[in-house]
Amino acid sequence: MKELKKILIANRGEIALRALRTIQEMGKQAIVVHSTADQDALYVKYADASVCIGGPRSSDSYLNIPAIITACELTEADAIFPGYGFLSESQNFVEICAKHGIKFIGPSVEAMTLMSDKSKAKQVMMRAGIPVVPGSDGAIASVEEARKLAAEIGYPVIIKAAAGGGGRGMRVVEREEDIEKLFWSAESEAMSAFGDGTMYMEKYITNPRHIEVQVLGDEHGHVVHIGERDCSMQRRHQKLIEESPAVILDEPTRKSLHETAVRAAKAIGYASAGTFEFLYDGKDKKFYFIEMNTRLQVEHTVSEMRSGLDLIEWMIRIAQGEKLLPQSEIKFSGHALECRITAEDSKSFMPNPGKITKYVAPGGRNVRMDSHVYEGYSVPPYYDSMIGKLIVYDKDRTRAIAKMKVALDELIIGGIKSTRDFHLMMMNNPDFLSNNYDTNYLAKH
Ligand code: ADP
Repeated sequence: MKELKKILIANRGEIALRALRTIQEMGKQAIVVHSTADQDALYVKYADASVCIGGPRSSDSYLNIPAIITACELTEADAIFPGYGFLSESQNFVEICAKHGIKFIGPSVEAMTLMSDKSKAKQVMMRAGIPVVPGSDGAIASVEEARKLAAEIGYPVIIKAAAGGGGRGMRVVEREEDIEKLFWSAESEAMSAFGDGTMYMEKYITNPRHIEVQVLGDEHGHVVHIGERDCSMQRRHQKLIEESPAVILDEPTRKSLHETAVRAAKAIGYASAGTFEFLYDGKDKKFYFIEMNTRLQVEHTVSEMRSGLDLIEWMIRIAQGEKLLPQSEIKFSGHALECRITAEDSKSFMPNPGKITKYVAPGGRNVRMDSHVYEGYSVPPYYDSMIGKLIVYDKDRTRAIAKMKVALDELIIGGIKSTRDFHLMMMNNPDFLSNNYDTNYLAKH
């Protein structure tokens, strides 16, 4: 075991503060890097050392690998915690860290590479005997190939970007006449978002639930699961509300889902925190792998609340070469719920950055506000619009929703528009309350 002493956080916003807390709680030093737009962030004040790495644009700062490596060398940091987004899934970055003797707190470059192209990841999983959504075997090269395959699979189909993320580069095709137009529009969106226009195709599952399994693997070949999360409340294929457990699953299906994810992680020798995402078809109680995220996810918090484990602590311990605890020692209880609060209009979801003139965070037993904002803080326009995550935990789903309502009522964000009111509306929505919805709910209503 090699103890890490100084960890540099190569990220910003709520996850930078979230990681800083765990690093300092573990008795280690937390170094932060920031752009000129983030110099007034709380975590810059709390950090043991901070380095400004460039201008507001991500390409100048949070994606600026030479500046981040230099910051590590200046501060003598021995490891990097990447968070989510930015460089968290960059194989190039992982390799550069290794060359500089800096431990990347995440999976190996091999595991990351296997899962980074979503069409290839599906092939790897298929070979490991994991059920996947029927579709193309790898990438599709042309519209003609797409047309032919769609006829075989049967409409509706979904054309997806192999490099995709955040719901971008994806188009549902209902009829053959639309396939050409939608193929090109998905491809051009993928090119501009990811610089990679590789496309693949899947059968479009109508009315699925998005259910994912959190796993942890260590460098000694052990893998455990930290339960599942239901992330079916989405807008434009992006998650808004997440919860654990997924109460829609019966016990045998849940057990089989967990076992499948553990088997999948073992198949790729996975060591760190990761998530296997599945679509669940309630009609025949079947689940299908769609992708794996080789990093910590935004919604990891609900798994922490239910298991009592700190997932960032475990990522660090795994990176130090420690052994995981056995599955039998991981106990789950109660119900956890997370609402993503963004600086967006509650109805149109139009971004609304600016100065927060009033801020009151909710509190009470098992109420957790993971946010980096404060009264007087200005939400910069350059980055993702998420300003916080409100997480509650209670004995069951009904009580968790009741707790979330009280917490959202207490939350005050003044000066900018936020999605607080959207979440309050959802906590009173009869379909959400009765758990009767799927990933297309918001598009339909
Ligand atoms: P991203 O990497 O952009 O998040 P995913 O592959 O994880 O993309 O899919 C995001 C969401 O898109 C899913 O949660 C689901 O709502 C929808 N989706 C993706 N693939 C399918 C499919 N084959 N059938 C139905 N919905 C899908």
